[in-house]
Amino acid sequence: MPELPEVETVVRGLQNTIVGEKIMDLEAPWEKALVADDPYESIVGRVITGVSRRAKYIVIEMDEGFLLVHLRMTGKLTPVYPEKHVTVILHFESGNSLYFQDTRKFGRMVYTKDPQHALGHIGPEPLSADFTPDLFYQMLHGKKRLIKPLLLDQSFLAGLGNIYVDEALFQAAIQPLSVSLSIPKKRVYSLHSAIQSILSASIEAQGTTVLNFSHGDNRIGSYQEALEVYGRGDEPCLKCGTLIIKIKVGQRGTHYCASCQKKYTG
Ligand SMILES: [Zn+2]
Repeated sequence: MPELPEVETVVRGLQNTIVGEKIMDLEAPWEKALVADDPYESIVGRVITGVSRRAKYIVIEMDEGFLLVHLRMTGKLTPVYPEKHVTVILHFESGNSLYFQDTRKFGRMVYTKDPQHALGHIGPEPLSADFTPDLFYQMLHGKKRLIKPLLLDQSFLAGLGNIYVDEALFQAAIQPLSVSLSIPKKRVYSLHSAIQSILSASIEAQGTTVLNFSHGDNRIGSYQEALEVYGRGDEPCLKCGTLIIKIKVGQRGTHYCASCQKKYTG
């Protein structure tokens, strides 16, 4: 599933390709994927004025209204006709088009005049200047929850998914079943730094291609080569050689080193 770095990569590509385009027609071969009361009336004739990201949402700003795109499991936005699994198509005045391709068909493109309605409840952006180590400490110590599901909770912190949470907890040496308010300040600061450096490095590498992620014209990311713990169950820990453990935490495959990562519960 695309996480923050993958969505950011898609957004940067779209900023270079669709801003300024005027939408002249649209098709929704998979009707459910396009959520709008009156799609033609709301969308056709609009000019795209900007593309940005909030959490895992792609926010396409138009001269009137917004399209919020969530890629979910397998969604892709591509300028190249993908032949199969096309759910929505925007046709532009320039002759270019934008195709929403989605094998599993869970992705959605939602028209709204008020993006805050959908995005207002989401937690802080982990790469924003407002997200300081002290704020993170207050956030974690204001909750008594297991750290892994808490970090996956979009209303707590935006954009993190399974892969980057496992990686960040490994770098910060915190066991995934630790209780948020028991994690000492020094470890919280390490976790803050790990989250920011991992997300930045992954954006630099144009994301992680583990399951079906590609962007633009089927380019793929390369951060999977830098993963230290995710997907390495039963392989030796890169720091100490102990075999990496894989468990389920809230249905999600979770990888950690029982020797390097300390469990804080008391
Ligand atoms: Zn280890």
